[in-house]
Amino acid sequence: MKELLSDRINNLAVSQTLAMAAKARELQSQGKDVIGLSLGEPDFNTPDFVKEAAIKAIQDNYNSYTPVDGYVELKKAIINKFERDNKLNYNLSQIVVSTGAKQSLSNIAAALINPGDEVILPCPYWVSYRDIIKLNGGVPIEVKTNISSDFKISGEDLEKNITSKTKMLWFSSPCNPSGSVYSKSELKEISDVLLRHPEIYVVSDEIYEHINFSGGHSSIAAFDGMYDRTITVNGVSKAFAMTGWRIGYIGGPKWVARACNKMQGQVTSGANCIAQRAVITALQENPSKIHYMVDEFKERRDLILGLLDQINGFTCNKPEGAFYVFPDVSHYFGKTIDGTTINNASDMSMFLLEKALVATVTGDAFGDPNCIRISYAASQEQLIEAVSRIKNILN
Ligand code: PMP
Ligand code: GLU
Repeated sequence: MKELLSDRINNLAVSQTLAMAAKARELQSQGKDVIGLSLGEPDFNTPDFVKEAAIKAIQDNYNSYTPVDGYVELKKAIINKFERDNKLNYNLSQIVVSTGAKQSLSNIAAALINPGDEVILPCPYWVSYRDIIKLNGGVPIEVKTNISSDFKISGEDLEKNITSKTKMLWFSSPCNPSGSVYSKSELKEISDVLLRHPEIYVVSDEIYEHINFSGGHSSIAAFDGMYDRTITVNGVSKAFAMTGWRIGYIGGPKWVARACNKMQGQVTSGANCIAQRAVITALQENPSKIHYMVDEFKERRDLILGLLDQINGFTCNKPEGAFYVFPDVSHYFGKTIDGTTINNASDMSMFLLEKALVATVTGDAFGDPNCIRISYAASQEQLIEAVSRIKNILN
């Protein structure tokens, strides 16, 4: 039988974070001692108080289909969380719970993008934005940044890329992969530009909100004039170490929430019942309860920055959030090391996997061909060993 895949799927790139993680697992299963720093996944266990809520939910027979947009109790917990942490006031009709923030993002794209609509993506951006946008007929407009601007765009950068076709701005702060955090004044500059273009919507991905070492998180939806045109995306994968539980959510305009609900109603139905019950407990807790993880991430950030500093030609910004470093490795392009010529970031990432047994992700996946992403969601011993292997092979 001929393989007759659709153009849509043929044009869709494979998620390179997941592909690299799969490659690392494959090598590990062959007995190779690969250190996996490719996947953005906390290496902590889900906190006990959350696990206990899930066990109780099973015992209490939460086993039926859930409301498509989430249990009312969970939506209320999300409303309280938005009030508590972000000074954003939503009502029940403005919240949609999904099977991970990835589905939240996909719903938004399906709900808002018409073919040919332009979506401004500050680079580097999280790996799946570009393909989610393209899958829905949108045109990603990549706005380049570099270390000297801490991988952030200015109001001027944004303004220069706005056209009559611009539909949305998508970004994450703290950013995956650069770890950059937009300050209040930087967000104000961006929102001032957007105020002059009232037809542009914003998708603000705040999934790393709590993994922030800069001393404060700001939500762009809370700035003057932004509430009605911003969809704030969040989830529990990162802050609560719940990647496999698959719960994400949005707060935004009622008409967007209604559209996401409609989309989800045809595609997946409501998110998992047990996971939703557990997330009610997670969100009701004071965020200080998960600070032990944030403190550890900060220690690891400092550790890995210090270690990478000893490697010739790896130049880093100082990430203020998330759990990634994004070194510029372009110093090595065109050089031959140990018989292998490194022409780009993908070559470097492959070289490190094959020769140093350290899994990273090429910056191409995030729209920056000069960098590689290293996740430091691994133990300090693993980080020390990984950087020492990289250093030995490169220096
Ligand atoms: N946004 C960003 C910036 C991410 O890093 C991730 C990580 N997977 C997601 C969204 C999706 O998260 P989830 O596990 O909730 O689907
Ligand atoms: N967000 C994580 C990452 O960037 C998980 C992988 C994924 O969902 O693509 O590595």
